[in-house]
Amino acid sequence: MSFFKSDKCKICKKNLGHRFCFRTGKDICWQDCNEMRIDRKCPSECSYALKETDDLSLKTKADSIAEYTDLLKKQIDKWISLPQKIFGDEIPRNMAESESGQQRLIEFFQQFQINSLIPLSYLKDKLSLHDLKVASHIKSYEDITIEFLEMIIKQEWKQTIDLLNNPDRYDNEEFKKNYLLRLQSNKILVKLTDFFLVSSALSQDKKKALVYFQLNGKYNITISLKRKNDNWLISEKIFGKPEIVNSEGQAMQQIAVLLSKNKLSDCFELLKKYSSIYVDSSDLNYYWGMYYMISNNEDKAFNFIQTAVELDPEFLEAKGIYATMLTQRKKIDSAKLIFEEIIKKNPKDIKSMNNLASIYISEKRKDEAKKLLEKCLIIDPNFEYAKKNLEKL
Ligand SMILES: [Zn+2]
Repeated sequence: MSFFKSDKCKICKKNLGHRFCFRTGKDICWQDCNEMRIDRKCPSECSYALKETDDLSLKTKADSIAEYTDLLKKQIDKWISLPQKIFGDEIPRNMAESESGQQRLIEFFQQFQINSLIPLSYLKDKLSLHDLKVASHIKSYEDITIEFLEMIIKQEWKQTIDLLNNPDRYDNEEFKKNYLLRLQSNKILVKLTDFFLVSSALSQDKKKALVYFQLNGKYNITISLKRKNDNWLISEKIFGKPEIVNSEGQAMQQIAVLLSKNKLSDCFELLKKYSSIYVDSSDLNYYWGMYYMISNNEDKAFNFIQTAVELDPEFLEAKGIYATMLTQRKKIDSAKLIFEEIIKKNPKDIKSMNNLASIYISEKRKDEAKKLLEKCLIIDPNFEYAKKNLEKL
């Protein structure tokens, strides 16, 4: 006897049972739902029941592209093995056996625009319609996340970089090393053997998407993606159901409040709690960095600040701290590069300008230092640090 109510599908006992079935009175997975509803005998009060249509398209609810495509394939299987009025009650599968039948089928499919979601390539294979022209498949957001998880299973860590948003940031070897280390030290990902795509969602402007999976039959992960031109790129992994994606901002706010009140032990508990969920949050890593700076653990602080910058190259506040830490660690070349990047993005960042000037002074590049410091004082004539540095010169 089990004390825990299983959330598994009551039919296959493998996938997540994420949907209540009116026909069986059980929680089931979409794959088993598709198996059943294709016969069109589901009670009409179920929103997943199939509505009558004359052609190959389907009027029903589906929670992902994968689910809808699977259903269409089942519909195609049925359609090709039944007499079709449009062909004088001939059965498409039999027609495909003769050359003239093939021709009629191909003409039929090519005479009108077919819904791009209909897997024509599947039909082409099923009926061996070699001459049927099929538009090349554009990878969907679901395709990208599946590719990503397959790479993880094969432990092809490095290859995953190509699927990420802003892959250029990993031209930086330090960030690349940091990313790979983070990925490979994730206890769930490192043991990944199988995944089940539960559902997906597209934002209204169609520029963002979420894909929700169950990993190894028990862990939830939601992968968020952004569209860049025609390509989808992964922006964040969240270990939880899609509904917690929007709570990230609120969670970070809670942490910020605790930090500002110096409630360090409460803050530590929250940081720990959210660290297993929002693994790719630059804010969370930044707050860990702040926490360890206050606790005087400089090495840990450095690692977290570095991760915050790795995750979000536009996070200028974290970047400023990172560059300062690099200077303290005598990694002057890297520090200079980052200060320059910050100033380029925010030409009024006098703190970074002053810090860069300090480095120039130590390198005896007096003219460049002077120019920067004078610029600082134009922006803020009362900026003490710049005044002092200028006096030094
Ligand atoms: Zn199932």
